[in-house]
Amino acid sequence: MPVGDRRMISRTVVDSTRFHKIPATSQNLYFHFVVSEDDDGIVEACRVMTMCKAHEDDLRVLAGKQFVQMLNEDLVTYIIHWRNMNVLRADRKTDAIQCMHCGDTIESVKVHEYVTCSCGACSVDGGHDYLRRSYATSPEADYIDLSEYADVPSCSPGEVLKEES
Ligand SMILES: [Zn+2]
Repeated sequence: MPVGDRRMISRTVVDSTRFHKIPATSQNLYFHFVVSEDDDGIVEACRVMTMCKAHEDDLRVLAGKQFVQMLNEDLVTYIIHWRNMNVLRADRKTDAIQCMHCGDTIESVKVHEYVTCSCGACSVDGGHDYLRRSYATSPEADYIDLSEYADVPSCSPGEVLKEES
């Protein structure tokens, strides 16, 4: 899937008291992150921070306040949107696909567990925290998605805000 050049910024996040309380430089970095993230909400923090002249403290603030999650020591960072934080992360039961070429079913159980099928066409990553798939040509041609979600009632943005503040 190509990375589009448009990104949605959640007003629920940006209008929250939690967001207003962090320094303007951290808020600026958050906006740059959202614009630079890929389709799975992943961003190379180092590159973005160099580009917008942010300080590493700005990243620490965003991580400390749960706006982003650092995935490794290279500062590859996951942007936590309210829907991911409140719905997807909480209720994903399995992160699995079946390869349509070799028939293997592969599942990522832990956050950094990267699993590839035996023919090498597909892989999954991210465990129950985020979804990341690699494939040869397209999702439709290469795999069947087997991810399951638990039946947790989804909440409206207003309800989420109340829980956060
Ligand atoms: Zn395969």
